[in-house]
Amino acid sequence: MKVPEALNCPNCGGAVTSDKTKCEFCGSRLKTVGCAACLGMMFLGSQFCGHCGAKAYKAELLDDAAAGDCPRCKVKLQSLKIGVVNIRECERCGGFWSDSNTFETICSNKEHQASVLGFSGSYVHPNSGQPTISYVPCPDCKQLMNRSNFARSSGVIVDLCKQHGVWFDAGELPKIIEFIDKGGLDRAREKEKIVLTDERSRLRDEQRRLAMMERRSGSGGHFKDDEGEWGIGKVISRLFDL
Ligand SMILES: [Zn+2]
Ligand SMILES: [Zn+2]
Ligand SMILES: [Zn+2]
Ligand SMILES: [Zn+2]
Repeated sequence: MKVPEALNCPNCGGAVTSDKTKCEFCGSRLKTVGCAACLGMMFLGSQFCGHCGAKAYKAELLDDAAAGDCPRCKVKLQSLKIGVVNIRECERCGGFWSDSNTFETICSNKEHQASVLGFSGSYVHPNSGQPTISYVPCPDCKQLMNRSNFARSSGVIVDLCKQHGVWFDAGELPKIIEFIDKGGLDRAREKEKIVLTDERSRLRDEQRRLAMMERRSGSGGHFKDDEGEWGIGKVISRLFDL
């Protein structure tokens, strides 16, 4: 644990030490994060780092009574809003919970990736070592989650509740965003396409054969080429075998 230092409450500007979780002047909940530029401490929600003046990530703590418990530590998760993305974080182990919609938003939007990456990579957790491999419960429904190699080829094994979302142990979310950033998701999608194309050409052959039979019988059939759009949502659910 770092030595507490005097910081300013992002809400009222009052001087509060960094070990406080609540402002003694205005009562706001407080949480320290590290500046991405100088690693100095500041309160979440500050606009600028008090040490180097760098612009801080736009993030705030949300009051969410239904946030659920960390699947690993069983402590209450904290709801955070990073930019426009809502995720829940465990302060003890540094894991993140993202509901399915939010995760799709993160996957499909570079700007969100950058803010989440900047945020989740901006502070170091005391026990962010290798998590033990075990099945853990979903924070929402308490059912044990599946373990899944994200996009089948990322090598990042995440915990997944088909109904509710994805759990990332400390360090996994940045790895996944990096994977997406390096085109991993596009490559995985390409692979999916190849499989689909094979299936389509098989179907086309079949349609052609039928059309020829129809032509022979005089009805002159035609077949259409259905390329179909592969939206990110569909791809994600395919990637996870949902
Ligand atoms: Zn305050
Ligand atoms: Zn700084
Ligand atoms: Zn935890
Ligand atoms: Zn669930």
